[in-house]
Order: sequence, then C-alpha cells, then structure tokens
Amino acid sequence: MENKLVLYNTLTRRKEEFEPINPPHVGMYVCGPTVYGDPHLGHARPAITFDLLFRYLKAEGYKVRYVRNITDVGHLEHDADEGEDKIAKKARLEQLEPMEVAHYYTERYKAAMAALNVETPSIEPNASGHIIEQIEFVKRILDNGFAYESNGSIYFDVEKYNGKYRYGKLSGRNLDDIVTDTRKLDGQDDKRHSYDFALWKKAAPEHIMRWPSPWGDGFPGWHMECSAMSTKYLGERFDIHGGGMDLMFPHHECEIAQSTSALGHDSAKYWVHNNMITINGQKMGKSLGNFITLEEMFTGKHKLLEQAYTPMTVRFFILQAHYRSTLDFSNDALQAAEKGLDRMMKGIEALAKVKPSSASTVAPDELAARCEEAMADDLNSPMVISALFDWVRIFNQLAEGQQTITAEDLEKLKATVDRWVFGILGLRDEKAAAAGGGKDMVSPLVDMLLEMRMKAKADKDWATSDKIRDGLTAIGIRVKDRKDGFDWEIE
Ligand code: ZN
Repeated sequence: MENKLVLYNTLTRRKEEFEPINPPHVGMYVCGPTVYGDPHLGHARPAITFDLLFRYLKAEGYKVRYVRNITDVGHLEHDADEGEDKIAKKARLEQLEPMEVAHYYTERYKAAMAALNVETPSIEPNASGHIIEQIEFVKRILDNGFAYESNGSIYFDVEKYNGKYRYGKLSGRNLDDIVTDTRKLDGQDDKRHSYDFALWKKAAPEHIMRWPSPWGDGFPGWHMECSAMSTKYLGERFDIHGGGMDLMFPHHECEIAQSTSALGHDSAKYWVHNNMITINGQKMGKSLGNFITLEEMFTGKHKLLEQAYTPMTVRFFILQAHYRSTLDFSNDALQAAEKGLDRMMKGIEALAKVKPSSASTVAPDELAARCEEAMADDLNSPMVISALFDWVRIFNQLAEGQQTITAEDLEKLKATVDRWVFGILGLRDEKAAAAGGGKDMVSPLVDMLLEMRMKAKADKDWATSDKIRDGLTAIGIRVKDRKDGFDWEIE
C-alpha cells in the first residue's frame, strides 16, 4: 500500500492515519436502519458511504468484519407517540404481529440496498434477537455504579459519569448545553435529571413489544443495542464506528458513555460520520412534503420528481460528493449525474473495443495513481470520479485511433477501471444489464444484421439498409455509422 489511508476521526476532529488494532483484521460497526417505515433517500447515503469504505478496505487487502444492525425493537420518539412505539402502533392498527411489520420493512430495506449495489455486511444483527446481551450490558453499567433503577426502569447517571469521564466529547457539547436542550423534553419523572437516558424501560400494560428482565417486563433503551451488539461481534475494542451525523448526539454520545462505563474505556478507535442530504435545499421531513422513499425515486412517482432515477444514478450522485459534505438532491443535479454516468459507461464500452498497438501514447499508471491517492485521502470519491472522467476522454481517443496503447497497457487500464468503477465505487452498467440478459447475448445478432446492412449499402440496396436500421431503432438499438464500419448502442 503506497498511499496510507487517512480518515477524518470525529472524536479527535482531525484526519488520522488508519492503523487497525489487529491488522489485517478490521472491525467496523455502522448504525443501521430502524425498520418501521419504507427505506428512503436518507438511508441511501450512510449505506453507500460505508459500502465504499467496506469495498475499499477489502480491495486494499484487509479482512473486514462489517456489522450493521437492524433496529426492530421500536423506540419512543421523544416528540410524538407518547407511550407507544412505532412498530407497536402500526401493528395494532393493522392487526399484525410486530415482528411481521419489522420483517416486511427489513426485506424492503434489503431489496433497496441490493438495487443500489450496496454489499451485504458481514453480520446484520437484530436488536430483538439480542435482548439477553442488552440486559447483561445494563447489568455491567449498574454494577459499575453508573446507572440507577427507578420504578422498573434503569437510567444512565450522566452526572456521575461526567465526574469521571467526559459526557459530550464526541459532539463537543458540555453538560450545561445539554441541560438547556433537554429540559424542554422533560416529563419522564422517573429520571433524576433531564439529561439521564434510559438503558431499560418498564413496559406499560398496553406495550406490545416487551421482554422479561431482572427489573420486570420492559424493553431496552434505543442506544443500548449498538453497545451490546458491537461488543458481542467486534469485541471490547474495534476499529471503526460509523453512521450519519444526525446520530452523533444523542445516540453515539450515549453509546460511548454506555461502553465506557461498562468496559472502562472507549470501544471505537475511529468515529466516521457522513453528512446529511437535503432536498432542493431543505431538510427532508414528512411534514415538509419532501420525504422521498427509494421506491419513489426509482419509479419517479413523487410530486417533486420530474422523472425516475435509476439506482445507479442515485449511487453515482452520492459518490460524486465527498461524504463529509452536505448533498442536495434536485432534479437538475440528478439529471447531470445521470448524463455523467452514461458518459462514463459509454467510455468504458469504447475502451472494451480498443485494439492494441505496438506502442503506447498513454500511461495507465497515472489513472491508477490518481485514484489511489484520492481515495486514501479520507475517501475522496469525487476526486476518483474526476480522474476517471479525464480518462474517459482518453478511452474515446483510443477507440477513435487518436491515441495508441500496447496490449499490456490495455490490460492494465481495463484492470484499473474494473477495480475502481465496478469494484470500489460499486457502479453497474445498468443499460447493458437491462438489455435482456445483457448486451453480450444480443451482440452477435445485432452485429450480423449490421453486416447484412453494410453489404446492402455496398450494393446500393437502400431499401434493405433502411429496413434493418429502422427495425433496430424500433427495439431500442441506435446505429451509428462510421467511416470504417458501424457502431451501435442500446438506448
Ligand atoms: Zn447505533
């Protein structure tokens, strides 16, 4: 590895050289979806950001165990739904078993991720399948004196913790700010302080999702599953903890407090956060009418969308921005991404047809070096894409015979494209894949028809020549005449 990976660590607020705790193994934990609603645009960005990191680390030779949880227990939203969690509420309304609701949305999430070509993590543990581990974790915090029981619930004692460690070190908040912020949400009188948070909540009689515990029937607090499951699958110290910036406070701050109070030290060495998305400059929210699900994105069925955008357009659009920058979804920006992706795929198709020469006028190592350097610098995917675009121009020049390349260099160049475009960026040539079994299957037939057309043209049989071209156009194959023959593409 010539370029050492440098990652921005939210915890230290600076870029740091990535040194795994136990190389070549890398443990990575990312907060996954809450499965009580359809997967939406907000899910796409963290999934793609950490898929990029996962793919890159593997391509660099690391053995990565990537854990992404599924929050299926359902949790109280502090602004609405007093006393009833969302899965339970939906289950009650639709007379479903809560796990049926969670399962349905988990499947929807997985299908959307597969469409976005997001690789399946190594482990996707469900919170509901790890209640015992969560109870054990709560017990450790109680035993260490950083939590208290109150009326069947267990709360984290933030003040006591802050006396020994520092609560707020990730988000940069201090306890005074937090007191001001949380006072207005007060009303859960079982707590000693407004900023204390639940590790275990007593279940009210009407609460459907409940489990027995040493403190009576209840359910775990939202932050508990991540501490318990990351420790179970990655150990007490692991390399990377990721998630969206919106999770930094309170979720990740509480995770750090829980893990530190139970284990005596931090769990994650590097905290990596992706920035948020906006829609036409506004935060996405149900009340704003700009909440777009991934299905609406892929079908174009949303009032804000001028057209459907394919999963690869969405993926490419997200990768065109650095993960720590905000990203604004608009029709203009998405259409530009669609065109850019198309141009890239056509360039790669052109490269596939290049015939080698005895000498090279291009140096493929330059592309590889630029991609490596950009990616090693805190996953700068926009710079990787920009290097690839510079080379798409060269691919076209090679195809047109304006530049030449040896067989060896051509293989190198194709391998570089495979590694970066299809491997690490995880893009797919959707048009080729959509053409019924791929372009490979229809290619010989189209080539044969076009050779018949060339012969017809040579014989000045214009009627036959036009008939073949029009027939191909009708099924979505565009023919381009060249000086020395023809070229074609699937529209
Ligand atoms: Zn989490």
